Amino acid sequence: MRRVSILGATGSIGQNTIDLISRDPGAYDVVALTGASNITRLAKDAIALNAEIAVTAHDHLLDDLRDALRGSNVKAAAGAAAITEAASRPADWIMSAIVGAAGLAPGLAALQQGTNLALANKESLVCAGALVLNTARDHGAHIMPVDSEHSAIFQALIGEDIAAVERIIITASGGAFRDWPIEKLAEATLEQASQHPNWAMGQRITIDSASMFNKAMEVIETHEYFSFPADQIEVLVHPQSMVHALVGFNDGALMAHVGPPDMRHAIGFALHHPQRRKLPVERLDLAAIGTFEFHKPDETRWPALRLARDTMRAGGMMGAVFNAAKEAALDGFIAGQINFVQMAEVVEDTLTAFDASNSHIAATMTLDNVLQIDHLARKAAWDAIHKRAG
Ligand code: NDP
Ligand code: MG
Repeated sequence: MRRVSILGATGSIGQNTIDLISRDPGAYDVVALTGASNITRLAKDAIALNAEIAVTAHDHLLDDLRDALRGSNVKAAAGAAAITEAASRPADWIMSAIVGAAGLAPGLAALQQGTNLALANKESLVCAGALVLNTARDHGAHIMPVDSEHSAIFQALIGEDIAAVERIIITASGGAFRDWPIEKLAEATLEQASQHPNWAMGQRITIDSASMFNKAMEVIETHEYFSFPADQIEVLVHPQSMVHALVGFNDGALMAHVGPPDMRHAIGFALHHPQRRKLPVERLDLAAIGTFEFHKPDETRWPALRLARDTMRAGGMMGAVFNAAKEAALDGFIAGQINFVQMAEVVEDTLTAFDASNSHIAATMTLDNVLQIDHLARKAAWDAIHKRAG
C-alpha cells in the first residue's frame, strides 16, 4: 500500500485528490490530512480514509476537531507547527495543496523526507523557488507539478531536451471579467470576482484568475520550476480553457496539451507518474467544441503580467515580496477595503517600496528570511491598502 498525505485536504484540490484515492480502495494508506476552518469535512474524511492523524491550522479549533473525531482511531492536532510535523511523517506521496505562503514550511518538511511531492501550492515556488528546488535536490525528493499548465508543460517535455525549447506558452481563461469594459472593473464585486467561467476552484485562486494574478504567479512558477528564461514564457488568453500549455521547440513544432478543465487530470497524473492510468475525466468531443481561440492579453486590463516580469527581472527575494503583496491585496479586496483594480496598485506600490530599499533583500534564501520578507512585504502592502481605504 502506498502511504499518502494530503496537506490542504479540505480545499478544492484536496477534495479532488480524495475523490481519486477513494476510487481505489486498498491501494492507499492515508497518513495525514490537514485543513484549517472546515473541521466537519476534515474529520469526516479522516475517519472515512482511516487516517493516522488529522490536523487543523487553527489552535482554537482543536477541541472541535477532537469532538468530531471521537470514537475513531484518528489522532487530532492543531497549529502551524503540527501541520509541518504531519508533513514530515513518512509517506510515499504527499499532496501540497494548502493555499498561500502557509504551504511553504510544510512543503519543505515533506521534501526533507525525500518523498514525492505533488505541488499545487504555487505560492511556495513563487516566494522561494530556489529554496524549494534545492531542498528537493539535497534530499533526493521529486516534485511533480499539479497546476494544470505546469503538468501540461511537464507532459509535453517527456522525452525532450529542454535545451531545444524556444518558448513556453501558458493559457489563461481571462477569468470573470474578460469581456467587461475596463472602466467598469473598479466596480466589480467580490461575488462577481468569485465566479469562474470554466474551472471550479477555491475562492482565492478564482479571484486571482479574474485579476490575472493567478497567471502572473504561474509565469513565475514556470520560470522557477523549469529553470526557463522569463522572456521566453508567453501568456495567451484562451477562453475555452482546454489547451493548457504549449511548448515551442527549435524546429518550429508546438506541442500542445489539450484536456477538459478538470484538476483530476493533473492530480491523477502526479499520483500515478511515471505510469498513466485511467482517470474519471470527460473525453473531449472536439468536433462538438469546434473552435479554440487565442488572444494576446491586454496588459492595461491585467497589469499583473507586467508586475510578474518586473519581479522575475529583479530576482532574489522579490518573488516573496510579490506573493505576500498579492496575498495581502487579495485579503484587502475580500474585506472590502480596496476595489478590484486597486489590488494591482497595492502590489506595484509594495514592489516599488522594496526595490528602493534593497537592503531588505537577503542574499541567501532560507525559510527564516523568506518568512521575514513575507512579513515585511505584507506590512508594506497593508500600508498601501490603508492609504487607499482612507
Ligand atoms: P482552497 O481555498 O479550496 O483550499 C485551501 C486549503 O488550505 C484548505 O484545505 C484550507 O483549509 C487550507 N488552509 C487555508 N488556510 C490555511 C493555513 N493558514 N494553514 C494551513 N492550511 C490552510 O484552495 P484550492 O484547493 O483552490 O488551492 C490550493 C492550492 O492549489 C493553492 O495554492 C492554489 O493556487 C493551487 N491550485 C489550485 C487549483 C484549483 O483548481 N483549485 C488549480 C491549480 C493550483 P479549510 O478549507 O479547512 O479552511
Ligand atoms: Mg493553473
